[in-house]
Amino acid sequence: MSRVLAIDIGGTKLAAALVGEDGSVAASAIRPTPRTDVMATLAGLIDEVKDGGPAPRAVGIGCAGPLDLTSGTVSPVNMPSWRGFPLRDEVRELTGLPTVLAGDAQCFALGEHWLGSGRGSSALLGIVVSTGIGGGLVIDGVPLLGPTGNAGHVGHMTVDPYGERCECGGRGCAERYASGPNLARWAQDNGWKAPAGEFADARTLATDATAGEPVAVAAFERGARALAAVIASTAAATEVTRVVIGGGVSGAGPVLFEPLERALDDVAGLAFVRSVDVQPTMLGVRAGLAGAAKLAWDYSQQSR
Ligand SMILES: [Zn+2]
Repeated sequence: MSRVLAIDIGGTKLAAALVGEDGSVAASAIRPTPRTDVMATLAGLIDEVKDGGPAPRAVGIGCAGPLDLTSGTVSPVNMPSWRGFPLRDEVRELTGLPTVLAGDAQCFALGEHWLGSGRGSSALLGIVVSTGIGGGLVIDGVPLLGPTGNAGHVGHMTVDPYGERCECGGRGCAERYASGPNLARWAQDNGWKAPAGEFADARTLATDATAGEPVAVAAFERGARALAAVIASTAAATEVTRVVIGGGVSGAGPVLFEPLERALDDVAGLAFVRSVDVQPTMLGVRAGLAGAAKLAWDYSQQSR
C-alpha cells in the first residue's frame, strides 16, 4: 500500500508518521524539539519512520509559524535557531521526495476535516487554543493558506479595538484573552492563586473552574467571549458552518465550551452566523499529523 510521510514540527516536539490514503498510520515516532540543530534530529526521526515501510510518495509538513510559503521558509516563534529557515527545500533534499509545507494550525484544521470533527463540512474553521492561538480554514475541502501561507491567524483578530497591546504589536487580539498563559495571567491579576504544589497555569485554572472557583470561572467566561467574537466574525466574513476547537486549553471541557455557546448566542446576529456548529477536537494531538498527511496526499495527486 502506498503511503506519504507526515511531519509535525512544534516548539516542544517533532513528530513524523507514514500515513495511508485512508488515514491509517503504518509507523510513527516523536522526539522533543532540541534547542539547536533541529534539522539533525528531524533527519533521524525521518529515517526511523521511513524504515517502517516502502518509500513514501510525498512529504507533508505542518510547522509552527510564522512561515512564508512562497520561499518555503519558517521562523517559528518558539524555535529561535530557525529564522527564515528553508525547511521545505531542506526536507525535499533530504528525502528526494515532493515536499509540501503549511502552518501547524492549518494542518490541524485539515486533519480534523479529513478524519475528525470537521468531516463533511463545506466551510470549516479550526482553532488551536494553547500557549498561543492559531487557526486554519478549509473551504470546499481545500485549505485556504493565503498568498504567503499565513491565512487563519485568528488568535490575532482584534476582538477589542481599545484593548490591551498584544505581543504581535496589534491591539485587543483574541490571544490576549483566551490563550492558556493569558487566562492564567488574568485570573492571577484578579486574585486567583493556584493550590499549593500546583502550577498557576491554564490546566490548574481549568480544574478550579470545574470546581466552581469564581475567578477561574470568570477567566474562562472572558476567554470564551473572545473566542465567540472570533468565531462570529469569521463566520460573517467566510460563512464557515463548523468550528473545531483543539489545543491544550480545549481540554478544559465544559468550563470553556458552555460559556462559549452562551457568548456566541449573545454576540452572533445573522442567521447563518448563529447556526455555526462548534465542536471539540476529535483527533487531539494527532490532528496536525493527519493534516500534514492529507496535504501530502493532495500534493502527490496534483503533481502526478
Ligand atoms: Zn496579536
